[in-house]
Amino acid sequence: GLENLALIPGTVGAAPMQNIGAYGVEQERCFVELQAMERSTREIHTFDRTTCEFGYRESVFKNTLRDRYVIVSVTYRLAKAPHQVNVTYRDVDEEMARGREGEKVEGSKGETVEIRDVYEAVVRIRTRKLPDPAVIGNAGSFFKNPVVSAETYAAMAADHVEMPHYPQADGSVKLAAAWLIDQCGWKGHREDGIGVHDRQALVLVNHGGATGADLIDLARRIQRSVKDRFGVDLTPEVNVW
Ligand SMILES: Cc1cc2nc3c(=O)[nH]c(=O)nc-3n(C[C@H](O)[C@H](O)[C@H](O)COP(=O)(O)OP(=O)(O)OC[C@H]3O[C@@H](n4cnc5c(N)ncnc54)[C@H](O)[C@@H]3O)c2cc1C
Repeated sequence: GLENLALIPGTVGAAPMQNIGAYGVEQERCFVELQAMERSTREIHTFDRTTCEFGYRESVFKNTLRDRYVIVSVTYRLAKAPHQVNVTYRDVDEEMARGREGEKVEGSKGETVEIRDVYEAVVRIRTRKLPDPAVIGNAGSFFKNPVVSAETYAAMAADHVEMPHYPQADGSVKLAAAWLIDQCGWKGHREDGIGVHDRQALVLVNHGGATGADLIDLARRIQRSVKDRFGVDLTPEVNVW
C-alpha cells in the first residue's frame, strides 16, 4: 500500500507529521493510529486518522498541535498480497510501461501489477530526478503544489494550454509548483552556495557554504516571481523556524 512512497528519506515518527506522499499516495492510505507524548504532561495519547486531521502535506501536528507532541509509535496496516496499486501518475505509469529491463509490465493500469514492480519503478524515477541528500544538501520539495479553483485554473489554462494540472475530487485543481517555478526561469539557477536543482525545480539545494537565511531569501524571491507571473501563492512544504 505504501510502495509509491519508496525512497522518501526520514523516520517513521515524522511520516504522519506532514502526511508524506508521492505519486498519488499518502501515508494516510495505510495509517491506523499513532501514539504521541504530550510534551507538557508527558502523557501518551492515541490519535486516529480523524484526530490526526490529515490533508495534503498537513496534519494536526503541523497546525493546531504544532510543537506540542512527540510521535512515539505509528501503526500501519499494509497489504502483503498484490492489490489495487496506484499507477495514476503519468511518471509511474510510463516507467511501469518501460519495465525493468525495457519490457512492458503486464497490466500497467493497476489491476495485475506486483507491488514490487511499482516500488522499483518509483525508485528508478526518484533516483533519476531527485538529488541524494547524502551528496547535496536539500529538503526535498520546498513548496507544496498549489491548489486553485476551477475558475482560476481555466483562466490560467487559456494562456498556458500545456500547464500540468490534476483535477481534485472537490472540483479544485492542483497545479505543479515545479512547472510554475521552471516557467519563471529558476530551474538550475545557482548563486553562491545555493540554487534550484537542475532536474527538479521544486528542490532548493545547498551546494556548500550557504546558510538557512540564504535559502529563505531565495525561496521568497521564487515565491514573488511566481506570484507576479501567475498570480499564484506558493506555500512552503517544509517547516521553517
Ligand atoms: C530528497 C528528498 C525527497 C523527499 N521527497 C518527499 C516526498 O516525495 N514526499 C514527502 O512527503 N516528503 C518528501 N521529502 C521530505 C521528507 O523526507 C519528509 O518530510 C520526512 O517525513 C522527513 O523525515 P525526518 O525524519 O527527516 O524528519 P525531520 O525533517 O527531522 O522533521 C520534519 C518535521 O517533523 C517533526 N518531527 C520529526 N519527527 C517527529 C516525531 N517523532 N514527533 C513529532 N514531530 C516530529 C520535526 O520537528 C519537523 O518539524 C523529501 C526529502 C528529501 C530530502
